[in-house]
Amino acid sequence: MTTTPLEGAPAEAHALPVAGPADVRRAAARLIRQDRRSFAGVVALNSAAALAGLAAPWLLGRIVDEVRAGAGVAVVDRLALAIVAAAVVQLLLSRWARYAAHRMGERTLARVRETFVDRCLALPASVVERAGTGDLATRGTADVAAVGTTLRDSGPQIVIASAQLLFLLGAAVATDPLLGGCALTGLVAAHLATRWYLRRAPAAYLAQGAADSGVAEILSATSTGARTVEAFRLGDARLRAGREALTVARAARMRTLLLRNVYFPAVEIAYSLPLITVLLVGGWLHLRGAVTLGTVLTAAFYMRQIEAPLDEVLSHVDQLQSGGASFARVEGLARAPMSNGEELSTEPEGDRIEVRGARYAYPGGPEVLGGVDLVVRPGERLAVVGPSGAGKTTLSRLVAGIDAPTAGSVTVGGVPVVSLAPERLRRQVVLVTQEHHVFLGTVRDNLLIAEPEASDAELWAALRSVGAEWVSALPDGLDTVLGGDAYRASGPQAQQLALARVVLADPHTLVLDEATALLDPATARHAERALAAVLEGRTVIAIAHRLHTAHDADRVAVMRDGRLTELGPHDELVAAGGEYASLWRTWHGTPIP
Ligand code: ADP
Repeated sequence: MTTTPLEGAPAEAHALPVAGPADVRRAAARLIRQDRRSFAGVVALNSAAALAGLAAPWLLGRIVDEVRAGAGVAVVDRLALAIVAAAVVQLLLSRWARYAAHRMGERTLARVRETFVDRCLALPASVVERAGTGDLATRGTADVAAVGTTLRDSGPQIVIASAQLLFLLGAAVATDPLLGGCALTGLVAAHLATRWYLRRAPAAYLAQGAADSGVAEILSATSTGARTVEAFRLGDARLRAGREALTVARAARMRTLLLRNVYFPAVEIAYSLPLITVLLVGGWLHLRGAVTLGTVLTAAFYMRQIEAPLDEVLSHVDQLQSGGASFARVEGLARAPMSNGEELSTEPEGDRIEVRGARYAYPGGPEVLGGVDLVVRPGERLAVVGPSGAGKTTLSRLVAGIDAPTAGSVTVGGVPVVSLAPERLRRQVVLVTQEHHVFLGTVRDNLLIAEPEASDAELWAALRSVGAEWVSALPDGLDTVLGGDAYRASGPQAQQLALARVVLADPHTLVLDEATALLDPATARHAERALAAVLEGRTVIAIAHRLHTAHDADRVAVMRDGRLTELGPHDELVAAGGEYASLWRTWHGTPIP
């Protein structure tokens, strides 16, 4: 049986924030301001296109009035030619407007993406970990894509359609105020119908999605667990459950169908209302001699034309809503806490790492560090040993500035480690784990993450120092693309790239989480040589899983149940005959589990 993961997961409490409506409006206004000339151009082009579109109905009205006044074929031909000319101008202008709007949308989307990536990279690791990378990934993919659709398609369409709508209304009112006013019947009806629909649709569609997921879940659980279902004769129960889920799904679908069945016809009627009222009111006015037949016809044509942009606006309202919700999630990143503590502007003085009375509890969990005191001297090699669950990894996370102590302090050169901005922190302390990520991009991209200003000569020097000569044999050297369908770096190569990044960041202190998995001897030797080059001349705090690391260290710190129980050089601790001495005797030369 599958379990339901994440039910009531505490991640909720640490979810990344979502921007409020006011913030979303401000952010949208900022995006427009950043491209204000293009935006003004797009609006101007659309207005010109809409203006050109007004000519035809007016000219048709003129034709009717001229013919009734006894005008000849020549006049009609001239007016008809003008209609064709206006239509061509409108076509060209609206094509140009659309092209400009799409270009602007793409540029703006690129800006949204770049800002998103910058914000992601600035997030402290602990914030990302607590929120869950899934949330961040969804915001970076599905949400950014939804914002893209809005910017590329719905946004421009709504701007275009709104401009057309306004101009048509203006022209209709100018033709005859009373007849122009007839358009309001359609607008009010469409507004009321849409409001009714939007109040009910989101919840109904959410319920439908949930009900569909329910059916899929039951079907897949029954089919994957078919043998269990047979063995325990659960067939009837599964059938009943399936039938119940289908009943719920059917009801949910009927509900959305009902909403559509009311909304779509209502909107269709709303579209026709202006034309119907103009014909009724116009006919009556014409009979009384208040307006010419041409005027009625012109107004009727305008009403007929209003349908298209109105339909365009309404059909994109939904998209605009979901695009807005996605944009709120993308923009929410700006409100995520940017550091674990308060940002300090003071530079650390010196390289000394001091842990004073540090306590730590994972959110919602018990205390796992119960007051640790430790001073690491610059240039020292300190090995931290102890049984699994003693708090070694947690301590290393505090020293590397990933988490802030819940009480006490962890400082480098007198400044709390967590208060340092990422680009300053990586000059001080870097955590080196066995996770070596190769980013999709060139070798150069992979290295510049650590030091954006580095020259090619510095990159090559860093690669040589970790023994990554293989890069010079690649077809494009530093420009070779890694990952995806391109060159795939092997495990050891990925480790060398990660270590070259550490060399480039050049921190004075390394927190080293040793490999728990045993590599094959050849790879291990290779990896150790590369690592030794990086450790050279730096302070090293190693979470030791093998005792020979502790043996080679300047001092050994022994941890148990979240506290330091012993601290001193290997020989002294062995001579003292305490906990470390018994560990050494028991596990001499073998890995600590
Ligand atoms: P060690 O590295 O010595 O094995 P850890 O620092 O990983 O010890 O773990 C110390 C305690 O903290 C353990 O009881 C562990 O279960 C708990 N712990 C570790 N990581 C987390 C986490 N992300 N969330 C909650 N508890 C954790």
